[in-house]
This record gives sequence, structure tokens and C-alpha cells, in this order.
Amino acid sequence: MDYLGVVLLVAAVAAAFVVIARRVIGRGRRARAERDRQLRLARSAAEADVNGFGDEMARLAALAEADPAAADLYTLVSALHARAQESLREARQPDEFSRVTEVLEEGRWAAARLAARAAGQPMPARRPPCFFNPGHGPSTCNIVWRHRSLPSCAADAIRVRAGADPYIRTVERGGRRVPYWEGGPAYAGWARGYYSSWWGNGLVSDIALTKV
Ligand SMILES: [Zn+2]
Repeated sequence: MDYLGVVLLVAAVAAAFVVIARRVIGRGRRARAERDRQLRLARSAAEADVNGFGDEMARLAALAEADPAAADLYTLVSALHARAQESLREARQPDEFSRVTEVLEEGRWAAARLAARAAGQPMPARRPPCFFNPGHGPSTCNIVWRHRSLPSCAADAIRVRAGADPYIRTVERGGRRVPYWEGGPAYAGWARGYYSSWWGNGLVSDIALTKV
């Protein structure tokens, strides 16, 4: 091979390398951007729930103050709220928000017991979160909606029985709002955490849960 041939070969190899490198970098950037986007969406859903739970703390504190027997439950609720905030801060992957919602599910359950005790009502049975919006807290019954038996909070059960739509939690997907169960992989960990204590339980058998 003459000198010009060698130069051309080197140039061709270098050009091919640049094209491949650009493609790899481009793919890496797109994957990173997609990961960041999913992380942002999952964080905003989890953050809204932690804040919603936080908004109830003052009401729960007042209930506990009025009824010293409920003080232990308030201590538990506060500890779980703090743990949910910590898990929110620590989450680095969309899937890690399942830890936040696992703690919130337990926290909402403790809050429901506190409210029942303060109202002098019997302790409610432990039930899975409301399917329509797990942020509503523990369900009170199962109702049939679109041919499925689903755990529902009292307010949504009343709406569905009256023929109205339940208050469905919506999330962002592709620039529009969709029910959270159509939200795609960004929300999978967030939703799964709410029901992770309920694997195999008949109350959630009509909910499609994907264990990762
Ligand atoms: Zn509900």
C-alpha cells in the first residue's frame, strides 16, 4: 500500500470511529435524559404524597393531644413521616420511590388508627390503599369498577355507587395527564410500594401488580 493509501485508510478508520463514538455518546445521552425524566416524574409523585401526609400532621397532633391514649400512635405516625421524607431524599432511581410509598402506606394506616381511637370508634381492619389514588390512604371496602373488584376509600365508594367517577390520581405522561396506572415505567416503583405488603392478598387480586 502506497503512502496515500495508508493516509486514506487511517482517515477512513478515524471517520468510522468518530461516527460510532457519536452514536454511542448520543445513545448514552438519550438514556441519561430518559432516566432523569423518569426520576423527576417519580419524585414529583412521591413528593406530593409525602407533603399530603405532612399536611395532616397538625390535625393528627391535635387529636393526640386531646386523647393521651393516642399519643403512642402519634409518635409512630411522626416517625413514619420522617422516614418517608428521608427515603424521598435518598431515592436516586425511579424504582427507589417504592421505599417512600411503602412507608407512607404504613403511616396512613397508623394515622387511620389514631383517628379511630380519638373518635372512640373500633380500630379499623388493615386494608390496602385506595386503588383510585393510593394517596387517599387505606381503603374501607372493595367495590366493583369496570368489572374489577378494587379497594376503595369511603369517599370514592360513595361516588362510584352513585354512578359518578372516582377521584382518579393522574400523572404526567408525554405532556398530558393520564391515570397513574397508565403512567409507564416512571411510576412503577412509586405505585408498587403502596401495595408491596399486599402481594397475593385477595383484596388486590384484580389489580395488575408487577413485582420487580
Ligand atoms: Zn379514594
